[in-house]
Amino acid sequence: MSTDCLFCRIVERSVPSTVVHETDDVLAFRDINPQADTHVLVIPKEHYPDAASMAAADPKLAGEVLATAGEVAKIEGVDSSGYRLVFNTGPDAQQTVFHVHCHVLGGRSFTWPPG
Ligand code: 5GP
Ligand code: ZN
Repeated sequence: MSTDCLFCRIVERSVPSTVVHETDDVLAFRDINPQADTHVLVIPKEHYPDAASMAAADPKLAGEVLATAGEVAKIEGVDSSGYRLVFNTGPDAQQTVFHVHCHVLGGRSFTWPPG
């Protein structure tokens, strides 16, 4: 737990969020500023700054984050229509919260390549 990390505070419930799904190790909650009808963030409860550091330290946990993203897509009803998973990493990707999070975006179509 990092006391100055917003998403660690969401895990410990000292900052409120709308939880969509939870396992022992992973939490999924709605983004406060949704960019699509479905916009859920899936995070490990343990603090890692980004996806690569999580996967290097704990590949099983990284797999659980991805599996939970798939569960969220089913819960949200976007698994058959399609959805986008995004891990913004570092300044060029506009990462703003340095606790790894997988954006699950769905409910509309997306352009490729991204802007
Ligand atoms: P990033 O830009 O780091 O990939 O994404 C961070 C995401 O966290 C943004 O989409 C932003 O809207 C979301 N966010 C920032 N603060 C909060 C908050 O307090 N609660 C929730 N639920 N989402 C937040
Ligand atoms: Zn954290």
